[in-house]
Amino acid sequence: MNIILFGPPGAGKGTQAEKLVSHFNIPHLSTGNIFRANIKKQTPLGKKVKAILDDGNLVPDETVVAIVADELQKDEYINGVVLDGFPRTVAQAKALDHFFSGNGSGIDAFVTLSVPEEELISRILSRGQGRSDDTPEKIKTRLKVYRNETEPVLNHYKKQGLVKEIDGVGSIGEIFDRILDALN
Ligand code: AMP
Repeated sequence: MNIILFGPPGAGKGTQAEKLVSHFNIPHLSTGNIFRANIKKQTPLGKKVKAILDDGNLVPDETVVAIVADELQKDEYINGVVLDGFPRTVAQAKALDHFFSGNGSGIDAFVTLSVPEEELISRILSRGQGRSDDTPEKIKTRLKVYRNETEPVLNHYKKQGLVKEIDGVGSIGEIFDRILDALN
C-alpha cells in the first residue's frame, strides 16, 4: 500500500505518518528527515541543502527525486510506503507517478490534512523541536512556498480521484481515526 501524507507545515504529517507506519506495518519515508539526518552528519548532501532548509525553501526537484527513487528501489519498500513531505511540487508528483507506473504499482491514497493557518503557526512555534526553520519568519516563508509550489500537487491528484481530505484539527487519535475511516 502506497500512502501519501500531504499538507502544509505544521499540519501533523510526521505524527500521523508514524501512526500509519505502525498500523499498516509499512515503512515511513520523510524527505525532511533524510535531509536533517544528512545535515547532522555533515554529508555532502547535508552541506548542499543546509542553507535551503534553514531558509525554508525547497531543495531542487532533481535532488529530491533522485533520493526518493533511489530509496524506493530498496527491498524494504516492497509492500509499500508512507510518504511524508514528498511530493512537494507538481514536477515531483509527475516523477513519482512515473516511478510507480514503471514498477507496476501506484498510489493507493493521497491524504491531505487541513488545518487553519493560525493554528499551523501556533503548533509549529510550540512544538519545540529546535528546528532551525521553526522561527516566525521561516514559517512565513514555508507557508508561502507551500501555497505557491506545493498546493498545486493537490489538484494534480484530485484529477486522479485519489485525494482524501481530512480535518486536521483535533487530538492525534481523533485525526488518525478520520484517516483510517477515509482509507477504508
Ligand atoms: P519537512 O520536514 O517535510 O517539513 O521538510 C523540511 C524541509 O526539507 C523543507 O522546508 C524543505 O526545505 C526540505 N524538503 C523536504 N521535502 C522536500 C521536497 N519533497 N522537496 C523539496 N524540499 C523538501
